[in-house]
Amino acid sequence: MGGPRDNKMDSQLVSLCAFLCLSALPAAAQLQTAQISGANLPKGTLVLTFDDGPDEFQFEGGNQTLQIAALLAEPPAPLAPIVGTFFLNACHFIGAPPPSGLSANCHTNHGNIPTSLIGQLRALGHTVANHGEDHVPGDYLQDAGLIYEITNPLTLLAGPEQPHMLFRPAGFEWDQRIASAAQRNRLARTETGPFFADFIGSGYIGANWIQGDWDCFRQGYGYQACGDLYLEEIQQSDHGGIILIHDRSPYRLAGQQTFLMLQYMLGQLGSESFAPLESLLGVRKAVGLSRQSSEFGTTDGFGDIVFGRIAGGFAATPCKSRADGIWCMEYSGNEFRPARRWFEFSSQFGLAPGQTFWLADLDGTGKAGLAWEQSDGIMFAPSTYDASSGGQFHAPRMVLPYSDAYGWRQSTGYEIRFGRFDRSGRESLLVRDKTGMRVFLSSGAGLALAFASGQFADAEGWGGAANPLRVGDIDGDGIDDICARGPNGVSCATVTAAGIGQVSLYTVPNGPFSDAEGWAAGPAASSSFALADIFGQGRKVPAGRIGAEVVFAASANQSFAGEQQLLDTLPTDPTGQAFPADATQWQTAPVYFADIDGDGQDEAVWMLPGGLWFGLTQIVLAPQPD
Ligand SMILES: [Zn+2]
Repeated sequence: MGGPRDNKMDSQLVSLCAFLCLSALPAAAQLQTAQISGANLPKGTLVLTFDDGPDEFQFEGGNQTLQIAALLAEPPAPLAPIVGTFFLNACHFIGAPPPSGLSANCHTNHGNIPTSLIGQLRALGHTVANHGEDHVPGDYLQDAGLIYEITNPLTLLAGPEQPHMLFRPAGFEWDQRIASAAQRNRLARTETGPFFADFIGSGYIGANWIQGDWDCFRQGYGYQACGDLYLEEIQQSDHGGIILIHDRSPYRLAGQQTFLMLQYMLGQLGSESFAPLESLLGVRKAVGLSRQSSEFGTTDGFGDIVFGRIAGGFAATPCKSRADGIWCMEYSGNEFRPARRWFEFSSQFGLAPGQTFWLADLDGTGKAGLAWEQSDGIMFAPSTYDASSGGQFHAPRMVLPYSDAYGWRQSTGYEIRFGRFDRSGRESLLVRDKTGMRVFLSSGAGLALAFASGQFADAEGWGGAANPLRVGDIDGDGIDDICARGPNGVSCATVTAAGIGQVSLYTVPNGPFSDAEGWAAGPAASSSFALADIFGQGRKVPAGRIGAEVVFAASANQSFAGEQQLLDTLPTDPTGQAFPADATQWQTAPVYFADIDGDGQDEAVWMLPGGLWFGLTQIVLAPQPD
């Protein structure tokens, strides 16, 4: 950006943010005084956390931290992939400063683990979290040492978890003095926690009291005996909770015992449900900085806005049908550019004003092209975008000629969706009709039937405008899954390389997103139902607008939690200049979820009469109110 106008705009935006961003943050610091336990989790819901890693001893040639991370990503049947939280000590990594004199965990094999392990944990779908620099309990430290312990790992561990890195203090040492020191520090304030644990593997073996897994192995017990202590704690509790396991084994006797113990425990816990640690937190997704375009409002052009990564990268560009073609509005340098026509209608291609269209990367270029349905098949025009010359949807071709083999012409209606249904890097076609679903994988040259499922069929009560299919990756495996909102709640089928899995209800019956909770009340409610990446971690969750509220439900293992409010209040403009004063406009506007700024996290976007509005958002995690 350059020029005086832009600079003025920047300073206006900055002052807007200074007002909105600060006022949107809760008053309390994110590292609160009381430690956060899992005592509010229902019985049968467990959270897995791992402390003191990475495993710098690597006995028997393997790093237990990585072995555990891989096991969670592919746990024994019937468990689905589990998200673990790894509370790491920065001192174990190559390049870490020499351990402090007080360090208990970093004197041996100090700094011998490559930092690439951090990315490996994330690639396996896990959360990387902060357990302090040198594992020095806070009781031993004055304020300066405390702040060093809490904040020094942030640079090393930096990743998508920022700016709300989860924190657990060494030895759970946390009190009013330590909390206030943390709350006074700018960097420490960006962290979230502290997190406690509910199940630590303590109990009696015979007459012998075991303090936890580390003590169990130190005393020479085997992995089954040590695992049974956790299972007893879990069984005897009247609630669910956070499990703490140490993935670092300082006792040579232990070897790979921690890994074996977890494997054993997962085998015994097949019917439990595992949730990520973040599900303990409420999310306030404050509208930090609202942006607007005067184009693409309700009265501009026809029909819905369609978002797609037409310019590559993560940013989703809004496109809309106008009288003469498909227009798209790129976002760059903190604002929308004027909309440009990316595709001109002409009679030969069979795409008319207001006709439904999709944006999909059928050829695997990383840029979504334009797809639509012609009388005799599915058409596709790739995106020619490059940063210097812009782009358009160019050279339409037919990618799936219709025969009537599937009886679509007689169907009362069929739905077309595009998504990633294999690991080719290309998006593919999903069609739902009265008999169920079919996936046509893209070869780049065209689409061909790959697998089918009788689920989400009309006979099972699906179909029609009331519960359209939504496509998105809900389990974080890189392949899109399929969900729909029905009378009882949200049902989903995960998709893997093997095909479409069983449809099951992912929410509590007649709970979140159900008709009983008001989701059948009006077209705005059901049509705003979407899958959105609220956390920016590559896993989508249900989201939508019900009345004036924009809500979502956090992801758990093969289920979604209760509805939580995404926005405290509708966006307001402190200067009173640009935002519509009429609140009912906001409450009736179509709401979309799309990653406008390409930061990997979806924004909420409203289509209002005067144009397109959205809030660039910041996630603020806070403990769930009781
Ligand atoms: Zn620890």
